[in-house]
Parts: sequence; C-alpha cells; structure tokens
Amino acid sequence: MSVFLRETDYKGGIFMKSIGIFRKVDELGPIVLPIELRRTLDIAERDSLEIYVDNDSIILRKYQPACIFCDNARDVIAYKNKNVCKSCIKALEENI
Ligand SMILES: [Zn+2]
Repeated sequence: MSVFLRETDYKGGIFMKSIGIFRKVDELGPIVLPIELRRTLDIAERDSLEIYVDNDSIILRKYQPACIFCDNARDVIAYKNKNVCKSCIKALEENI
C-alpha cells in the first residue's frame, strides 16, 4: 500500500500535503507513524527524526548527520563526535 497525497495547503509559507491519516496523541505524547509513511520515507526502526516547529505546525524529518564544514549529508563519517564528509577530509589532507 502506498501513501497518496490528498490535498495541498499553503500554510505559513510552506506547502503541506495531507495524507488523509489521523493519529491521536496518547497521554505521554507519543504518536505512531503509519507504516506506509515509514516505507515511503525510508524510516526504519531506531532511525532518528529531527523535530522542527513552524508556527502551529510540527515537522518531522529523518535525521541525517551533516558535515560540520560544508553541511553535506553524503559520505559523512564521525570523528571525535564531529561529522565530516569525505570531500572535506580530502581537502584537509591536502592542506596539511
Ligand atoms: Zn564537508
């Protein structure tokens, strides 16, 4: 089963697309992300989501660590708790 976008609203400068699914928040705050949405967005168990707030909206985005130098999220490795991409590592090597 795939997720179909039902309507598009323009709110606060961004387009938001309803997928026609509603979930209730339980007393401690958790909500369940529909499996169709997790599959569509390639969100696996134990993946981290980053939470953004835009006026009265909550935006969830799959967390992808970015390079501390260039903000690139591809080919990033962690070194001493800092994320660095391979391009920046190569550039650093050439400048040492
Ligand atoms: Zn980089």
